[in-house]
Amino acid sequence: MIKVRYNLDLKTLRANYLKIFDLTAMTAVWKPYESVFGMKIEELLTAEFDRLVEVYLQYKVTKLSQGQINTLNGLFKYESYQPKLAWFFMNLENKFDFKTCHYCNMAYVNAYGKGDSYRMILDFIKGATASEWRYWFTKDELSDVSIKKILQEQPSYTTLEDFNKKKYLWKRIELYKRMTLATDANHFDLDHVLPKAICPLTRLSLFNFVPSCQVCNEKLKKDVELATTKEDWLKISPTYSGSNFDDAVTFKLIPEVSCSTFFELMKNRENYRLDFDMSDGVYDNYITVFRLHDRYNYHKQRALHILSLKERYSEEKREEISRMMSNRYDGNGESIYSEAQVKEDIFHLDLEKDECFSKLRKDMMERN
Ligand SMILES: [Zn+2]
Repeated sequence: MIKVRYNLDLKTLRANYLKIFDLTAMTAVWKPYESVFGMKIEELLTAEFDRLVEVYLQYKVTKLSQGQINTLNGLFKYESYQPKLAWFFMNLENKFDFKTCHYCNMAYVNAYGKGDSYRMILDFIKGATASEWRYWFTKDELSDVSIKKILQEQPSYTTLEDFNKKKYLWKRIELYKRMTLATDANHFDLDHVLPKAICPLTRLSLFNFVPSCQVCNEKLKKDVELATTKEDWLKISPTYSGSNFDDAVTFKLIPEVSCSTFFELMKNRENYRLDFDMSDGVYDNYITVFRLHDRYNYHKQRALHILSLKERYSEEKREEISRMMSNRYDGNGESIYSEAQVKEDIFHLDLEKDECFSKLRKDMMERN
């Protein structure tokens, strides 16, 4: 439903990703399979989704002995890499900025830790004792001399940037990693679009991972295949640049009774329902797997609320409000009560662009 955005250039992202693995050791095991599946191990780990689907579909029809299957299961053991993979998506250097589950867009997935991790790390840096520093870092990583220096400088840290200026930036990043992992704060699952139980080859592939909520990953999708043909897989994978869920599926609010205004509709939840408008069965299957009908209808009043706002605060009304308010200007000479600003204040389109229910809001604004 929401595409995974890769904000770092893909060449650097791939290079960073490959650092997770011991490629020499993996290549040695993979060698006999290289010609069968037509890919080197580096390619398999970092290939775009369209290539991954081909390998996945090929694996399903390739006859392999139990010994070979065991070898591949050992080679692509997800559990061995799980913390490093989670950290790869959390590491600010890799520039992921996801906020909500890519499958449902209903739950937040907090990639950077529980609550306010900025606060958590800042409090630590400002107040940690020598033994607390020692708890997180070995002597190799942080010498006693450095700890002493940090303790002396502590009163001057009021922001994390103060700490960074002292050339300790990597320590801060390490702290993020260690504290968030240690406090089990990575509130997101990495789902395998191509199910990991069905094919081992794509278990560690970068473009097979979708940051998702636990309901979507563990309760609903599990090892279900969202599609069967390559063509259909490409339509629905959030990791594929050409996938098209957003355009192909539209939320629609359907009145069940004839009411003249949204206020009347609002009086009873049974007066209306949310549905999906779509042209292709593969999206229907997706909606069924993630139970989006039920889950969204539980929150359907949000959709009606936007339609009601849209009706009450039309462009003419917003211009009227803008005119009524006293003229005050921001630093750039723009009125702080311009029609555009009034619109944003009412609808929060920019503020909540990437937040939960953003597709629902967008569809209600633009397509209902
Ligand atoms: Zn979800």
